[in-house]
Amino acid sequence: MSAPDLLQDLNDAQAAAVLHGDGPLLVLAGAGSGKTRVIVHRIAHLVTERRVMPWHVLAVTFTNKAAGEMRERLEALLGPQARELWLSTFHAFGARFLRREAHRAGLPPDFAIYDDDDQLRLVKSELAAAGMGDDDRMGPRAVLTRIDRWKSAGHLPGGVKVGDYDVEGQAALEIYRRYEKQLARAGAVDFGDLLLRPLELLESDPDLLRYWSGRFRYLLVDEFQDTSAIQLELVKLLAGAARNVCVVGDDDQAIYRWRGADVSNILDFDRTFPGTRVVKLEQNYRSTSRILEAAHAVIAKAARRREKKLWTAQEGGAPLRLLVAQDEHEEGEKVARAAAGLRAEGVRLDEIAVLYRTNAQSRPLEAAMRSARLPYVIVRGQSFYERAEVKDAAAYLRLALNPRSDLDLARVINRPARGIGEKTVERLRAYAAVKELPLIEALGDRDAISELKPAARKALAAFHDLVLGLNRDIGGLDAGVAVQEVLTRSEMIEKFRAEGSDEGVERVENLLELVAAAREFDEAHAGEPPPRDPEEQLPSPVARFLEQLALLGDADAPTPEGRVALMTLHAAKGLEFDAVFMAGMEDGTLPYERPWSDDGPAEVAAAQDEERRLCYVGMTRAKKLLTLSLARRRMGFGENGPSFRATEPSRFLGDLPPELFGLPARAPAAAPRPSGPVIRRHPGALPGEPVIELDEADGFQESRPPPRAAPPLRRPAAPRGEPEIDYSYDQSQASGGGA
Ligand code: ATP
Ligand code: MG
Repeated sequence: MSAPDLLQDLNDAQAAAVLHGDGPLLVLAGAGSGKTRVIVHRIAHLVTERRVMPWHVLAVTFTNKAAGEMRERLEALLGPQARELWLSTFHAFGARFLRREAHRAGLPPDFAIYDDDDQLRLVKSELAAAGMGDDDRMGPRAVLTRIDRWKSAGHLPGGVKVGDYDVEGQAALEIYRRYEKQLARAGAVDFGDLLLRPLELLESDPDLLRYWSGRFRYLLVDEFQDTSAIQLELVKLLAGAARNVCVVGDDDQAIYRWRGADVSNILDFDRTFPGTRVVKLEQNYRSTSRILEAAHAVIAKAARRREKKLWTAQEGGAPLRLLVAQDEHEEGEKVARAAAGLRAEGVRLDEIAVLYRTNAQSRPLEAAMRSARLPYVIVRGQSFYERAEVKDAAAYLRLALNPRSDLDLARVINRPARGIGEKTVERLRAYAAVKELPLIEALGDRDAISELKPAARKALAAFHDLVLGLNRDIGGLDAGVAVQEVLTRSEMIEKFRAEGSDEGVERVENLLELVAAAREFDEAHAGEPPPRDPEEQLPSPVARFLEQLALLGDADAPTPEGRVALMTLHAAKGLEFDAVFMAGMEDGTLPYERPWSDDGPAEVAAAQDEERRLCYVGMTRAKKLLTLSLARRRMGFGENGPSFRATEPSRFLGDLPPELFGLPARAPAAAPRPSGPVIRRHPGALPGEPVIELDEADGFQESRPPPRAAPPLRRPAAPRGEPEIDYSYDQSQASGGGA
C-alpha cells in the first residue's frame, strides 16, 4: 500500500495530522470532522510507511464497539497485521496489562472482573455482615458510589480521609475495607482497579515503566475530552520520554463529567505536553448545513468552550422536524409513524436512530415500535448478560477458576435448587466469618456442617464436589467446551427444561446462546499468534471469555442490520445515522434535572452545560434528517408516587432559529402570524432567556408528510444546494431547502 492511498480521502488538515512525525499531537475539532478517521489513517500510515511494528502501537477508544469498528477498518487497510495492534478501551487495556503483570500485581492470572452488578451484591453482603444493612441513607448504591469515587480518585482504603463527624463516610469506609478484602480473597478486581492497579505498578516500578513505555512507541486516544485523571496519568506514563502521543477530541462533546471525566485534560493538553502540535479540522463531512446550524445554535450558548465553527459542503438539506405529542405514548406513536414513513421512502432502518436522555424513556418508544411493527434494537450492551441465568453460568465459571470467590459461591449454591436453604447458608457464612475462611472451605469443614440435617449435609457435599471438580477440569478447556461442561454438570439446562414453563424455555435458549457466544469467542481467537513476550503467560480461554463479558459496556451492543436503533444520548457518542430522532425535548428531561437535588449553584450550572453538550452530541449524529419530539405531559415520579406532570418545551428548542424548521424567521411582534407552527417566546420568560411555546392551535400538532412522493433520502449526489427531501410542515411555507 502506498502513501497516496491513505491520504486520498483526507483534506489538508487531516493529512497534516496523519503525516505528523514524532512528538505530541492534538486534534481538537468539532463533531463529524473526521477525527476518528485521522486516528485510523495515522495508524495505517505509521505501520505501512514508517515501518512501525503493529504491537508498538496502542490506540484507545471509548467503547469496545468503537474499538471493533476501528480494527475492522484497519484490517481493510493493513490486512492481518492489524490484529497485532493494541486497540481497545482504557479498561480493556488495563485488564490486558494486568493479565500480563498479574504476578507483580499479586493477582492470579485468571483473576475475575466484577461488574457493577457484582460490586453491588458484594457491598450488600458486606453491609449485612457488618450489621449495617437497614439504614435507608446508607443504601448499598450510595456506598458503592462512594467507593467508586474513592477509587477513581486513586485512593485505596488506607488513603481515604473521612471527617470524624461524617458518620456515613466512616461507615462507607468500613465497607470499603471489607470490600477490598473480599476482592483480594476472590482474586478479583473491579472496574476502578483496572485503571488504578496498572497505574500503581507503573508508578512504583521504574523497570516496568521503562519496559511498557518502550513497548508502546505510539499512543493514540480517541474521544480524549472524556478521559479521567487516572487515564491522563496512564497516558503520561506510557508516553514516556518519546512522547509520541496523539489525542483527538472535542471539548463540546464532553459528556461524562459525572463519571469522573475532566475536560481540562484536552483543553490543557498543550500545557501537559509542551511543544504539542495542534491541528484543527473545520470541515464536517457528516451532516447537512441545517443540522450543523442547529447544533451550533445550541452549543454556542455553553459557558466555557473554545469557539469553533464547522462548515459543510452539503448546503441546505431537509428542514428539521418537530413532533409535538400529548404524552409520552403519543410521542412514541408519532416517532414510530415518522420512522415508518422514512422506511417507505427507502431509508434503511439501521440508518435510523431514536435517542433519549434517560433509559426510562425507552419503554413507550419500544411499545410504539412494536405496535408499528418496526424492527428495533435497544443499544444497551449488557441486557443479554444481565439475565439471571447467564450471570449464574458466569458465576459457575468464575468459581471453577477460583473456588474462593464467596460472592459467586453464594450466588449459585442453591441454583438450580438443590435443597440448600437460606438458613444453612447463613450458618456457613457465620462459621466462615469467625474462622476467617472462604465459604468453600467452610463447606468442606466437618465442624461447620456437623450439626446440619443429613439431607442438607449431603446436598452441601455434592455441591462441594461439583465446584472442586469444575476447578480441576475447566482451566485448560476452550471457552465453548467449558461453558457446556458447567451447564451440564450444574444441571442448569436440565432443570430449566424440566420446568416446562415458557420462562424455563427462554432460560434454556439464553444459556444456549451463551454457549454459542463462547464458541464464537474460541473461533475468533483460534488463529491468534502466541505472545511475543516469553515472560507472558496467557490466561485461560475461560478467563478471557469472562473478561469480554464483563467489559461489555452500555454502547457495545451490535446494531443488527435492518433495525432501528434506540439508545441514550450518551451511548450515541461517535456514531452517525441518516435520520436521528431526539425524544423528550422538554425542560427537566433534556436538560435533565435531577429530582431532589441539593447541589449548589456552581454544580447546577456545570451540570446544565453538560446537558447542552449532550444535546449537541445528539444533534450531530444526524447526517440528513433531524427530528425533535416532545410530550406536553409526561409520567414522573413525585413524592406521592408516579403522576403526570405538565412539561415545558426544552430551552434548547428556544435556541433554534425557526428557519431551520422551514419556517419564516422569528418576526417582530407586529408581524402577521404565519399559518404554521409558531415558535414564540414564553410569556413568562425572563429577558435573554428564550423559552419557547409551541402553539397547537396553529396546527402544530404534527408535521404533515409531503403530499407529493418525495425522493428517497439516499438519492445519490443531489446537486449542491438542492434539498434532498422536503419535510416542511406546510407546503406554502416550505423554504425550498438551501436556507
Ligand atoms: P465525532 O466527533 O462525532 O466523533 P469525528 O470527528 O470522529 O466525529 P468521523 O466519524 O471520523 O468524525 O467522520 C465523520 C464522517 O465523515 C464519517 O462518515 C467519515 O467517514 C467521513 N469523513 C471524514 N473525513 C472525510 C474526508 N476527508 N472525506 C470524506 N469523508 C470523510
Ligand atoms: Mg469520532
